[in-house]
Amino acid sequence: MNKFIHSVQLDESACIGCINCIKYCPTQAIRVHNGKAKITPQFCIDCGRCLRYCPHHAKTAVYDSVDEIQEFTYTVALPAPSLYTQFNNLNNIDIVLNALLLMGFDDVFEVSAAAELVSEASRTYIQEHEADAPFISTACPTIVRLIRVKFPTLIPRLLPLKPPVEVAAEIARKRAIEKTGLKSEDIGIFFISPCPSKVTYVKSPLGIEKSEIDKVLAIKEVYPILLKHMTHDESKLKPLSMSGRIGIGWSNAGGESAGLITDNYLACDGIMSALRVLSDLEDEKFHGLKFVELNACNGGCVGGPLTVENPYVATAKSKQLHRDLPVARTHSDDSDDYKDLDYQWSSYVEYEPVFRLGKSFRESFEMMGLIEELTEQLPGLDCGSCGAPTCRALAEDIIRGDATKNDCIYAFHEYINTLSKDIFFLTQSLQLSGNHSSESMDLLEDYIYKLTTELDKKER
Ligand code: SF4
Ligand code: SF4
Repeated sequence: MNKFIHSVQLDESACIGCINCIKYCPTQAIRVHNGKAKITPQFCIDCGRCLRYCPHHAKTAVYDSVDEIQEFTYTVALPAPSLYTQFNNLNNIDIVLNALLLMGFDDVFEVSAAAELVSEASRTYIQEHEADAPFISTACPTIVRLIRVKFPTLIPRLLPLKPPVEVAAEIARKRAIEKTGLKSEDIGIFFISPCPSKVTYVKSPLGIEKSEIDKVLAIKEVYPILLKHMTHDESKLKPLSMSGRIGIGWSNAGGESAGLITDNYLACDGIMSALRVLSDLEDEKFHGLKFVELNACNGGCVGGPLTVENPYVATAKSKQLHRDLPVARTHSDDSDDYKDLDYQWSSYVEYEPVFRLGKSFRESFEMMGLIEELTEQLPGLDCGSCGAPTCRALAEDIIRGDATKNDCIYAFHEYINTLSKDIFFLTQSLQLSGNHSSESMDLLEDYIYKLTTELDKKER
């Protein structure tokens, strides 16, 4: 199985090689060569940051189409709680859930309801394994992917529980089979997602072998369709919502931690801040924490790249929406459907050493020394003209054999200058001495060949 499947991709025809994106990738996965960006799949964690920063919309997120509802006999929508925060003046979640039925789904199951079950399971797990704390949340697939490639020592700290969306899918499928008597393959479980990393999770999950979710739709695609079907006439609404403050709160940074009912937690949002927290965790800078919640997007899932609302406005709307709700409305002893649920991961996340330089520690150490040396020789401007985000990244590419020193525009100018001077002095000395031997002419020809080849390469 390909371990590095991605939902963030490049539309090469739209890319003009402007290098805006290379500076924003938290794992330095993007290079621009020959006027086009290229994502290194092993380094990409599907954070979606490049989607936001490409002014030419050349980075795209791949997700499923609403029309795919027709491919199944029976469909269930799993709305992420961040979906509710996209609408103005929404005071009743049932308005959104009923609109999902009117747009074509046969049933709905809220991810926020499953989140309340996962909060309960997390409280129990952390209590039973207190000696191994702090645990790191595994709800954001980008964070799990980041730890998998960059923070191997933190892998044992990952909370080994399924994310709410997976638990919601399991319950929804079981209920649909019981209700309709259909075969599992005739039932379509559709997650309505705020971010591309959850699309990647479904195609290539970590912690479990296979996801129960069949299709992932983007909130931004479903949003305008729902607007057409929403009614504020409460007499026409079926009572469907089963979420309280804890479940809806999972859409915001700090919401998952709030569901643990403890003060010993750290909640952080934004991928660059998450990187810093993970480094500090690795250095054991925090003491006494039970839980670390990291969200790749600013504001949490409300800030996902597939949403339509500003994350800060969405956060305010979320707080307004759940203010008058009970703390939780879904509990593990509410229904037989929840009793047999297995929340724990069935497989463990393995370290992927994609950033390791050499085949052995010794080789990596030697390569590191060469990179440091080479970085010193580069101008240190981090201008990006070479297509790498920093001079150090170019040095690393050179040592890995993926670039040459002449990719640096300054090193290139210096090289061309030296070569031009050599040609000039050689021509002059040949003229003065009258030496037209074949060796001298070969040397001159060699210099001219080098000069034209390098200039040709740059032009391309
Ligand atoms: S930001 Fe990156 S992907 Fe977008 S056009 Fe510029 S180089 Fe291409
Ligand atoms: S999705 Fe994130 S990690 Fe992947 S290339 Fe874009 S910015 Fe880099």
